[in-house]
Amino acid sequence: MPSPIGHAIAGVIAGSLVSPPRVDRVRTIAAYAAAGMAADLDLLVGAHSGPSHGIGAALVVGVVSWLMLRRTHARRAIAACAIAMAYASHTLLDWLGTDSSPPIGIMALWPFSHQYYESPWHVFMAISRRYWLPEFWTVNLIALGRELLILVPLVAIVLTIRRQSISAV
Ligand SMILES: [Zn+2]
Repeated sequence: MPSPIGHAIAGVIAGSLVSPPRVDRVRTIAAYAAAGMAADLDLLVGAHSGPSHGIGAALVVGVVSWLMLRRTHARRAIAACAIAMAYASHTLLDWLGTDSSPPIGIMALWPFSHQYYESPWHVFMAISRRYWLPEFWTVNLIALGRELLILVPLVAIVLTIRRQSISAV
């Protein structure tokens, strides 16, 4: 499964793809990054890769965002959709990642299915949480480097296109 940094970048990419026009503030980018990482908060309760990694959780995040933005945001439906997409990017990245701890995969289709899914293409390496092992830093730095090689060009392209489309309006 990718690192929190990879998830944050993917959240920015996904959120920016559907973000309302003229909303490109640092606060918005930070919200997309946080949404991209949020599913792994399930580590705090010892239920990793379960329902928080499902599309149902992304829908809940979208609805809650819509309710919270109700009075403060003119285009709240699009903004809530952008936050939900940022959250759902986590599911995509974990599905494309390598999982080394059972149950292998994620509950990507929760609540419609409780099965764990893992892509046959392991685009992202597993991040080790076993800090006591000697290879901890080496393995994680290589995995992070691979994530950055894949995701940084994508986020640069998406943000550049957004800036050009906003300045053209
Ligand atoms: Zn995850």
